[in-house]
Amino acid sequence: MALDPLTLLTMTIALALAVALYLALEWRTVQEPALLFWSAAFALISIGSTLALLRGSGLLLVGIWFANGLLVASHWLFYAGVARFTETRLGRAWGLVLVIWLAMLLLPEGPQWSKIMLVVNSLLIALITIRASFLLRPRGKSLGAGAAQLRFVLLGHGLFYIAKTFPVLVPGTLIDLAAFRGEIIQISLVEGVMALMLIALSMTGTVRYRREKRIERLAARDPLTAMYNRRALEARAPHLLDAASCTRPGALLLIDIDNFKLVNDLHGHGAGDRLLVALGEMIRLALPEGALAARLGGDEFVILLRNTSRAQIVELGEGLRERFRALAAVSFSTPQAVTLSVGATLFDQPPASLAALIEQGDVALYQSKRDGRDSIRLVDRTAHAEPLAG
Ligand code: GH3
Ligand code: MG
Repeated sequence: MALDPLTLLTMTIALALAVALYLALEWRTVQEPALLFWSAAFALISIGSTLALLRGSGLLLVGIWFANGLLVASHWLFYAGVARFTETRLGRAWGLVLVIWLAMLLLPEGPQWSKIMLVVNSLLIALITIRASFLLRPRGKSLGAGAAQLRFVLLGHGLFYIAKTFPVLVPGTLIDLAAFRGEIIQISLVEGVMALMLIALSMTGTVRYRREKRIERLAARDPLTAMYNRRALEARAPHLLDAASCTRPGALLLIDIDNFKLVNDLHGHGAGDRLLVALGEMIRLALPEGALAARLGGDEFVILLRNTSRAQIVELGEGLRERFRALAAVSFSTPQAVTLSVGATLFDQPPASLAALIEQGDVALYQSKRDGRDSIRLVDRTAHAEPLAG
């Protein structure tokens, strides 16, 4: 194979440096600490490969032992980054890797020692890389497509390093680390360049996927109560609304705080915020399985129920109303009681849209407000509708 090791090493230096810079810049925007570990790892590869060039000038301790040690250390940094990314604690045993490497600095020179060096180095790298790949296995929730790629790229890289040790162990195989001679060394350099690109690409993919998910999550939530916002509800509601049928009716409860402005005006906006958060938590705790809840805006909240009944709606609405009134009464004194009005609608056919359903809920809510607040009004739109309940 006519591959010039010096050219490959020079490519490795340039590529690793570029990737180190790229990951550091990516860190500035994403702020994922794993990227700093990975950036440092690629910087070490770049330094190690530069030192490896010194073999040609006869500086073997630095050019072989120290350069290869940096290669092990860089893989360790990959692993530390993966541990950080997957929130796994690093065991103390991993410090042993550095001890083994330091011990290898004491090895004398010569072809036989070159082989031992190569085998120990390769096994250390394989161990670290396969362990990192293991940390990225899906555990319950998926880490995303980028992490799956990184997992397999690291696994492939680790297995390559194990495979590399077999021919080295065959007597007569030429390994001359000092002069970069021997096929294994050449293949390793090619694999190194490939792995560098694949690992870097899958690392950015891994972090970007998590970032996108985080942005998606934030965009779906109301920042004050952490409940779904209207947009998130609109995206999730159709599934629930379309499931409505005569045997499994659905319901919407529109909830609005009565005299909420008094809390803001008399006790400050912060107090109003705390009350909104408390109501959000109350709703979250009372939510039946499969239901959806959201803050529509201001002091207005909505609950969507599936497979429900008048009795369940009244029980849920009344429970919230009573608990909220008790909480508001002990928390803030106001000239008029701070309570809840609930407008509910029960349906046994998928409604035209969520907006249409909210409008129906609004009509019921308005009735509650008009009739003196602190009550629940239910409009039954099913085929077996009974008169309005109060
Ligand atoms: P009603 O009994 O008719 O419902 O009147 P209300 O005093 O509850 O006031 P209304 O529902 O008409 O308006 C809601 C008020 O909630 C208006 C606004 O000042 C206040 N508000 C809206 N968003 C927030 C918020 O995020 N935090 C706080 N503290 N107040 C908010
Ligand atoms: Mg209100």
